[in-house]
Amino acid sequence: MKKLTTNAGIVVEDNQNSITAGKRGPILMQDYKLIEKLSQFNRERVPERVVHAKGSGAYGVLRVTEDISKYTKAQVLQKGEVTRLFIRFSTVAGERGAADAERDVRGFAIKFYTKEGNWDLVGNNTPVFFIRDPMKFPDFIHTQKRHPVTNLRCNNAMWDFWSQMPESMHQVTILFSDRGIPASYRHMNGYGSHTYSLINDKNERVWVKFHFKTNQGIKTLTNEEAEKIIAKDRESHQRDLFNAIQNKEFPSWTFYIQVMSQEEAKKVPFNPFDVTKVWLHKDFPLIKVGEIELNENPKNYFQEVEQAAFSPSNVVPGISFSPDRLLQGRLFAYTDAHLYRIGTHYEKLPVNRPIVEVNNYYLDGQMNFEEPKEINAYYEPNSFNGPKEDPNYKEPPFPVDGDGYRYDFREDDSDYFSQPRALFNLMNDNQKEQLFNNIAASMEGVEDFIIKRALRLFEEISPEYKAGVEKALKG
Ligand code: NDP
Repeated sequence: MKKLTTNAGIVVEDNQNSITAGKRGPILMQDYKLIEKLSQFNRERVPERVVHAKGSGAYGVLRVTEDISKYTKAQVLQKGEVTRLFIRFSTVAGERGAADAERDVRGFAIKFYTKEGNWDLVGNNTPVFFIRDPMKFPDFIHTQKRHPVTNLRCNNAMWDFWSQMPESMHQVTILFSDRGIPASYRHMNGYGSHTYSLINDKNERVWVKFHFKTNQGIKTLTNEEAEKIIAKDRESHQRDLFNAIQNKEFPSWTFYIQVMSQEEAKKVPFNPFDVTKVWLHKDFPLIKVGEIELNENPKNYFQEVEQAAFSPSNVVPGISFSPDRLLQGRLFAYTDAHLYRIGTHYEKLPVNRPIVEVNNYYLDGQMNFEEPKEINAYYEPNSFNGPKEDPNYKEPPFPVDGDGYRYDFREDDSDYFSQPRALFNLMNDNQKEQLFNNIAASMEGVEDFIIKRALRLFEEISPEYKAGVEKALKG
């Protein structure tokens, strides 16, 4: 039998009774075993994520089955390569205790533990997003969170914001479509959403989008089906994922990319770095890369899922960024959030730690829990064999164009309707009916002038779209 100890390793002789002055008297200050227990308990939570607070995680592998070396030198993307990964799925708006089966975008964040360091692809189950400039992100998220006075979610705030943001209409149409409530995390696609770049061994850059198509098939829930589930089970996605892996029904996704050359990017009739738009499949076909499979549950939810920290800034040689404004904002914001939420050395935690050696001069700060190193090289350049840069890893120049200015992106490209229209036209009558009813349901309590403003945007997508929502609102 293992003996219970304090954090300092001292055996606990009694874990049932505090030390009191006399049989019925008050507790003595010297009972530090009680004090340690209470203070540890007070510190059992780290601040919850402002977004994507409710999540589920699992380990798995990426198997690359196709040769895409003409686009990238990244070792993780070479044919035959097998790379361990950790994935965290999540809802966006709800707090840590929120129900899983809610109408919301789902996070689809993957950490690949590659031989060249960690590659984090922090995506969603949708190929686009509501906004395209990070300047609007805190405003958008405020509309999804609780109203400061009522402490309730606020439909009025959501539609007030969306109805003034025509670029949100594509993602709004996806959110209120039948795919807006996935049946489980296993039954949805994943998308890197942003445009990134790939760099080959000749140091040539192409633009790229990442797609993961579920091999379990798309399965969705109606509002009514979701309400019934939530009444009985707030953890339906967590339960589904954990049990599937426990029962060795390992979920998998087929991994594809879309590629656009730098010349093509200059010619396409839309901004290819606008995250509110997709690249049409017929113009930029899906190219198969391989498959990801999830095959191992975490052993400890807090240590592995709650402390997992992903950042789009973690890319490996052969994979890089694009001028996508929202991506550029996320490159800063994710790491900053983890430094606040988990602490200075969060990437030393087992779930975040790369499999390669980490060599740098960032040793000090809260909670450096590595084995102490005896070093004289604690600055660079030094004469004591400290780690040095390697210019072989230099990327090709990153193409930029023009003077620094707060450019209004709507002057560059104001077509926010043709892509939601293409999606709307793909829907059958039943899917359109669901879309209209789901939007109408989410407009409960919304002021008239805001509804009218939203209807004007639906009309721009299609008069049928506007008429359908209007009818459902009366309905
Ligand atoms: P296609 O006509 O070639 O294919 C339609 C795509 O839409 C498929 O990827 C399908 O996913 C997906 N889809 C179907 N219903 C929904 C929904 N309710 N929510 C989200 N995705 C859905 O696509 P195009 O490239 O010609 O683009 C037309 C429209 O399709 C776009 O405007 C966009 O809204 C949507 N779309 C396009 C994607 C792209 O990368 N080009 C990716 C996802 C959506 P599946 O294959 O799993 O059925």
